[in-house]
Amino acid sequence: MLRLMRILLTNDDGIHAPGIAILARVAAQFGEVWVVAPDTERSGSSHAITLFRPLRLRDAGPRWYACDGTPTDCVHLALNQLKVEPDLVLSGVNPGPNLAHDVLYSGTVAGALEGAHWGYPAVALSHCSGDEAQLAKLEARILPDILKRVIPTALESKLALNVNIPPVDKAPFAGLRVTRLGARYYSNEVHERNDPRGRMYYWIGGSTVTMPDIEGSDCNAIRDGYVSLTPLSDNLTRDSAMSPVRHSLSDKMDRPFQA
Ligand code: MN
Repeated sequence: MLRLMRILLTNDDGIHAPGIAILARVAAQFGEVWVVAPDTERSGSSHAITLFRPLRLRDAGPRWYACDGTPTDCVHLALNQLKVEPDLVLSGVNPGPNLAHDVLYSGTVAGALEGAHWGYPAVALSHCSGDEAQLAKLEARILPDILKRVIPTALESKLALNVNIPPVDKAPFAGLRVTRLGARYYSNEVHERNDPRGRMYYWIGGSTVTMPDIEGSDCNAIRDGYVSLTPLSDNLTRDSAMSPVRHSLSDKMDRPFQA
């Protein structure tokens, strides 16, 4: 039933990253795989689109293309230039979590959101460990099992789903949780150094993470050893603020603005 699909893959770690290689091999069990991925690391590129320089696609094998743009550019070109008509868009597997506020910075998540924006079901996949030695174990059973469970829901909902996988060395996992984005804070460190010409430069750090205990959150699910699945919206409207903000502006809204 899940056979004969066309699956478009992208990521933000670049076409040579091991995460997209294992995703391509596992996705091939479910259908025909197309890969359009950045030619270099684009982690943290969020939903950036390239508008002020040309983009190039380079052949990187049968149905594989490297693009010198962002994950958003990749999905855009795949859908609107290469005319891949996928049944599903997959982004990842990112080596490290995309939990809570991470999704605002994540190119992995943006790749999935861009697919969903054009009307295609999409899943972002992140492994909450950067340890490449764990990838073989992820590929063997856990990733196929996750896709088997999640793909039907993705196809049905046509949404972008954000999936985080606990470190595979902690398997077996307790199961799957449908979660809301939690909260996650990095340290505020900025490293100040001198370049070889003696000029100062800065490198944003941010190693230490605090994750407040929030019931039903993606962070808690990972902490508790569950695979986390969060349905995402590309609409950032804060619905709960509509009424208080209207109230706050109540006497200022119906006054015309004079030129
Ligand atoms: Mn990444």
